[in-house]
Amino acid sequence: MIKKVLIANRGEIALRILRACHEMGIKTVAVHSTADRDLKHVRLADESVCIGPASSIDSYLNIPALISAAEVTDADAIHPGYGFLSENADFAERVESSGFIFIGPTADTIRIMGDKIAAKAAMEKSGVPCVPGSGGAVPDDPEICLKMADDIGYPIIIKATGGGGGRGMRVVYDKSDLLESIVLTKTEAGQAFNNDVVFMEKFLEKPRHIEFQVLSDTHGNAIHLCERDCSMQRRNQKVVEEAPAPGITPEQRKKMGESVAKACVDIGYRGAGTFEFLYENNEFYFIEMNTRLQVEHPVTEMITGVDLVKQQILIASGEALKIKQEDIKPTGHAIECRINAEDSETFVPSPGCVQRFHVPGGFGVRVDSHIYGGYSVPPYYDSMIGKLIVHAENRQGAIQRMRGALSEMVIEGIKTNIPLQRRIMDDTAFVAGGAGIDYLEKKLGL
Ligand code: ADP
Repeated sequence: MIKKVLIANRGEIALRILRACHEMGIKTVAVHSTADRDLKHVRLADESVCIGPASSIDSYLNIPALISAAEVTDADAIHPGYGFLSENADFAERVESSGFIFIGPTADTIRIMGDKIAAKAAMEKSGVPCVPGSGGAVPDDPEICLKMADDIGYPIIIKATGGGGGRGMRVVYDKSDLLESIVLTKTEAGQAFNNDVVFMEKFLEKPRHIEFQVLSDTHGNAIHLCERDCSMQRRNQKVVEEAPAPGITPEQRKKMGESVAKACVDIGYRGAGTFEFLYENNEFYFIEMNTRLQVEHPVTEMITGVDLVKQQILIASGEALKIKQEDIKPTGHAIECRINAEDSETFVPSPGCVQRFHVPGGFGVRVDSHIYGGYSVPPYYDSMIGKLIVHAENRQGAIQRMRGALSEMVIEGIKTNIPLQRRIMDDTAFVAGGAGIDYLEKKLGL
């Protein structure tokens, strides 16, 4: 069993991991940049190590500094959290070759899933439905490209196989733009990702984003923990997430859930992961797998009662999953609002000192946040300062509970997106459920 975990992250997720470790009797090592000495989890950790200056490149992305911190503190495992190095195959490899346990899948799995063509090929082989497309790299011959696109049908999206973070994609509505768009996307991808391989997919115009959570151990057992709907997005960033997804039937859940659990066994997946799908006209289309814990994992925890971070640690320790598929019986409905330090209309980040912080509470209310009164939000990192999660017996009850919790939450000294979240909770289309990924930007007039 793992005895000491180094948390290679910051903010709310570092605190989330620390809480799970302490409940399991596992010691923690916090690592932090010079700008993050006052982070809550740094104060609560058993040990802490400063790994570099404020800039992420020199601290949270600094692989040698992280490995040295694990060595000097005699940690036996490293939890990468999300973002930063969590989906970096080279990091996972270095962690393991240095003799530590990486709390996540193998470097090989991360590498395959980080390449969109390879990931789609692995999913197709396992029988997971994918967006129809070129089935591999776009060929050099322009005539073949044009024919392929005609067969798929416009609009088409051209995507860089090595792309990420919503970059390296271009939508083509008309045949006359296809060839030029391919060249442009290839050039950009070569510069941004050092890999100019691109492929084509059918562009779905009003899909929803629905994703399935999985847990898979090293003994050949894999389960799914139902789905989440993360369609409320701005610039490919999720704003509100919920579980289960409105309107998905138990039959659809069972079919897709079994399909992704089987895929985990087929690819030898280890740990917690998420299969992301676009959902349109009652069909699911795989787009990518996230090989890590996600920001929105709490909504799944609330409806299933499973602590995903503890499960990650148990799997990384080599234990077999004790939870069986039949034990997963989702109850009620959970919603998460991401709380960001930003202007709720212009989205300009708003770092600075939190002068006052009143935390909402009551039955079914959960706050995952590292901020406290007097804490200064540094300007160097992501603007998310916490997550407000509610759980209730049904979706209407959860929306009502979220409205109350948002109105109780007071953060003074910095601007936050709480006003936007309140607008979303009162929005007719959100309340009805099932809005597409294009909805929020249209509502905001973007
Ligand atoms: P990334 O790795 O950059 O996040 P994804 O493949 O997950 O790339 O796509 C990011 C987002 O782009 C999706 O959430 C969706 O909004 C949009 N997108 C990707 N593929 C398609 C598609 N075939 N049709 C419509 N939208 C798409």
